[in-house]
Amino acid sequence: MTDPDCLFCKIVAGDIPAEVVHTGERTVAFRDINPQAPLHVLVVPRDHEPNAAASADADASMFAEIATTARAVATGEGYDDYRLVFNTGSGVGQTVFHTHCHVLAGRPMGWPPG
Ligand code: C5P
Repeated sequence: MTDPDCLFCKIVAGDIPAEVVHTGERTVAFRDINPQAPLHVLVVPRDHEPNAAASADADASMFAEIATTARAVATGEGYDDYRLVFNTGSGVGQTVFHTHCHVLAGRPMGWPPG
């Protein structure tokens, strides 16, 4: 399933350029255009869903695949420590309504997040 108006569906399809670091059967990962850490990659399912919970509703195994893809990307670039973030809802900063997992690494990170 794709949404013709969705930015990340267009990146997955190759219609909008991105620096892709992983292509899998069900997921694609590419560097965030506005990186917030030395490593900042977005892991997205190929199937369009508006957020992580909707992707889990559609296929619960998707979370496992996103997590293992994120680990492969982070460790492949030399980072054993990394942070995964799923913004869900505009109130917490979600701006693109196609499920995506931020993979962030390479600098100290505070808690709680801002
Ligand atoms: O969680 P949120 O929805 O805010 O994240 C969307 C992310 O998509 C942002 O970090 C933004 O920099 C990124 N982005 C991108 N390439 C685009 C448009 C947005 O990497 N063409």
